[in-house]
Amino acid sequence: MYCKNCGKEVNENAVICPNCGVPTDNYTKSAAAPEQKNTLALVGFILSFFVTIAGLVISIIAYKNAKKPEYNGDGKNFALAGIIISAVSLGLSLILGIIYSVIWINFIYMLPMY
Ligand SMILES: [Zn+2]
Repeated sequence: MYCKNCGKEVNENAVICPNCGVPTDNYTKSAAAPEQKNTLALVGFILSFFVTIAGLVISIIAYKNAKKPEYNGDGKNFALAGIIISAVSLGLSLILGIIYSVIWINFIYMLPMY
């Protein structure tokens, strides 16, 4: 990006312009406090441990909310953690479910037929 004050090219993540010292857009972004608390992110995070699918859905909504300007990224990490935890436990239960079904199918076929 380019400095609004002197027009020199500055690093994308720079908070102030190294050339003239004027704050960049990143400065205002990092300094602004969130206007709204993203409580949904915490709800989704906790739910992901107990009600996997609900936790996943709520975490995704909270993650999308966190990107909105009024939330200013609040709860983004909790939402992301909620998505990962529920996705992993969903994947694990899916794998376990397949393993159990395979075992059961094999067990039924092993039964002697009269
Ligand atoms: Zn500058």
